[in-house]
Amino acid sequence: MNTQPTKKHRIFEDVCEMEWKNWRWQIANSIHDIKGLENLLDLSPEELAGIEKAGRAFRWAITPYYASLMSAEDPNCPVRLQAIPDVRELDDEDGLLDPLQEENHSPVRDMIHLYPNRVALCVSDLCMSYCRHCFRKRRTLRSYDKNDFAPALEYIRAHEEINDVLVTGGDPLMMDDDSLCEKLAALRQIKHVKLLRIGTRAPVTLPYRITPQLAKRLAEFHPLYINTQFNHPKEITPESARAVDLLLKAGIPVGNQSVLLKGINDERDTLKSLLEKLLEIRVRPYYIFHPHRQSGTRHFRLSVDRGMEIMSSLRGYTSGMAIPTYALDTPHGKVPLCDNRIIKNDEKGTLVRTFDGTEWFELKEE
Ligand SMILES: *Cc1c(COP(=O)(O)O)cnc(C)c1O
Ligand code: SF4
Repeated sequence: MNTQPTKKHRIFEDVCEMEWKNWRWQIANSIHDIKGLENLLDLSPEELAGIEKAGRAFRWAITPYYASLMSAEDPNCPVRLQAIPDVRELDDEDGLLDPLQEENHSPVRDMIHLYPNRVALCVSDLCMSYCRHCFRKRRTLRSYDKNDFAPALEYIRAHEEINDVLVTGGDPLMMDDDSLCEKLAALRQIKHVKLLRIGTRAPVTLPYRITPQLAKRLAEFHPLYINTQFNHPKEITPESARAVDLLLKAGIPVGNQSVLLKGINDERDTLKSLLEKLLEIRVRPYYIFHPHRQSGTRHFRLSVDRGMEIMSSLRGYTSGMAIPTYALDTPHGKVPLCDNRIIKNDEKGTLVRTFDGTEWFELKEE
């Protein structure tokens, strides 16, 4: 792995290290206009149009850290594609505003109760950088109401079957430590809630958000898990490795939920490199989602067949630990799209195909 710290873009050369590594400085200085971005790189005519048009329809902002990962020359840089608004966001007739019908599964505002034992709780509508492929793009169009938490808390208290609460958003780590810990503490007080999980892209777009103090405070809420979203090997840097290490040392297992994205990670070698690099920084690949039918994301979508082909090409060629569950997220839950190796299954037994194409017959047990 590259162990050189990420080079600050030259326009940030004069910023002192202390400020650069301060997450509040990063957010206060995040890039959200053409001028800011043009200082960093040569925008292509398509990108300019994208910012002018799509940048008005959907929120956008990029932290100076994440922007420093962008290639200055290549408009197809995977970080540029994930972060810079694209005119194609406005050209998506098949897209849906709420593809998972989350609003239908919201017994109280900002909570999604779909599975019997677990809920997703949105505690923020803000993100460090806004992903162009975001599947909750509709959420990042409105503002989270701070009063929404009390009814959600009440609901969880009243439903003893809920033993697992997924704190998500937006990005929960956009809250300061006190506000976040206050919410986690309230959830921890509910006896039947056993697991707490946080979904955050901070290790990817703003690793400085993970401070030793935050890691230490989060450790008070164990068992606590964090899932993040690395989508490309380029996003794995010494800074992100350090953020993950701080969490792991605080006893917080870190998992990764990628999104399979056309033009970004839909090539076997790119994906393989991403997954192996995740293991190098001790992040467990958990899910890789088939792209959601979220409006404004058509240019990232690909077919299930193509997804299966890519996933299937990994098996046997990399560690089983590196292979996440390829899942289709539906309004009725996540569906694993398994790599089907069964050729025939009957009363005599099961014929399967191994990774290298060998056929194997497993006799049926009586
Ligand atoms: C993904 C998701 C969860 C968590 O599912 P796991 O498979 O346990 O990670 C919970 N609630 C909702 C609404 C979800 O979309
Ligand atoms: S961090 Fe998550 S919620 Fe925020 S824009 Fe990206 S995908 Fe959407």
